[in-house]
Amino acid sequence: MPEISYDFNKILSQRARNLEESPTFALEKKIDAFDSKLKKEGKFVIRFGIGQPDFNTPENIKEAAKIAIDENKTKYTASTGIRELKNAVIEKFRKENNLEYELENIFVGNGAKQVLDVIIRTFVNKGDKVLIPVPYWVSYTQQVILSEGEPVFVKYNNELKIDLNDLEKICNRYGKQVKLIILNSPNNPSGIVYNKGELEAIGEICAKNGIFIISDEVYEKFLYGEIKHYSIAALSEELKKITITVNAVSKTYSMTGWRIGYCAAAKEIISQMAKIQDQAASNPCTPAQWASIEALNGSQESVNVMRNEYEKRRNYIFERLSNIKNIKCNLPEGAFYVFPDISGFFNKKIKSSFDFAEQLLENDFVGVVPGAAFGDDRFIRISYATSINNIKEGIDRLENFCKKIS
Ligand code: PMP
Ligand code: GLU
Repeated sequence: MPEISYDFNKILSQRARNLEESPTFALEKKIDAFDSKLKKEGKFVIRFGIGQPDFNTPENIKEAAKIAIDENKTKYTASTGIRELKNAVIEKFRKENNLEYELENIFVGNGAKQVLDVIIRTFVNKGDKVLIPVPYWVSYTQQVILSEGEPVFVKYNNELKIDLNDLEKICNRYGKQVKLIILNSPNNPSGIVYNKGELEAIGEICAKNGIFIISDEVYEKFLYGEIKHYSIAALSEELKKITITVNAVSKTYSMTGWRIGYCAAAKEIISQMAKIQDQAASNPCTPAQWASIEALNGSQESVNVMRNEYEKRRNYIFERLSNIKNIKCNLPEGAFYVFPDISGFFNKKIKSSFDFAEQLLENDFVGVVPGAAFGDDRFIRISYATSINNIKEGIDRLENFCKKIS
């Protein structure tokens, strides 16, 4: 029989082909390949790329998962999660965020990323606009595109926070076409944290314009100095109605691979999300759900230990970066990233954050994420979720690279 050839550009959906690969995961693959080549020469890459805690999942949480498996808690569950975990989530929101919810308000999914995807699918019709303040986490834009919505970017002010004038302007321009805004505080990639007054001002504009708010709070526990976290949903009854608060055990408890995230919202929203989850994923991993109960209800000492360690690293890295000529950097108040402006190095050979990141990796073996992935090409993102020794070595190498390209 003659060999049949298939034109996959025609066969596979435009939706899939239009989608971009996650830049953080793409970079990780590139670093892996480069690192294994280097290791043969006795060298290695310092990884400031993907943002995931370098700590082990705490023992009490691992133990809870082992017990769940031994007790054969390994079957399907309700698609939005088991009642026991939802109760732990309700208690967490009540105690830590001053938010009262019932079981019908809670959705547990496969990490915050999948929860966000289900929320966006639940709201967005073809052509609906979703406001995404720059700089933004890499998956927001692509998840909106996957739902055939249109991301609209909101500019930032000199503190890298939402420019309220621009937000008003966009609301006036697009009116009812705007469905959602995605807020993220503490922010990935900038580390900025919104204060209460700022959230109230943003909330007022959203409420006035009928825009629902996704509040991504996955870095809530990693705050430095005197900074406090506020959940926008807790600021008024009206804001509670229009906000979907997203969180996860992934960052807080160093459980990125366990894939448990959750959100709270109006019952009408959660019941529609549940249908998508029924059809698309069944339920989040059962033993991981049981482990997450221990994460939320058990000792929080490990979170403190991690936070303290991140704060030391943040202080060190900020101090070092501030002393490198041509780098401009704001002091991050939360999360575990610094987001320095490296555009002072742009020249004939380095024209973009991609060029900077690529040459830094290839010449001095340091992996960072180009700012363009987060909506601004003048920056790079450095994750300090790695040991202080790695940070020292990595910043030495970065400093050396900067001297060479100055
Ligand atoms: N939101 C932000 C801002 C993140 O940085 C991440 C990290 N990947 C996520 C959501 C997704 O988290 P998860 O690993 O729980 O899917
Ligand atoms: N949130 C992490 C990051 O921004 C994990 C990677 C991802 O989920 O894209 O690097």
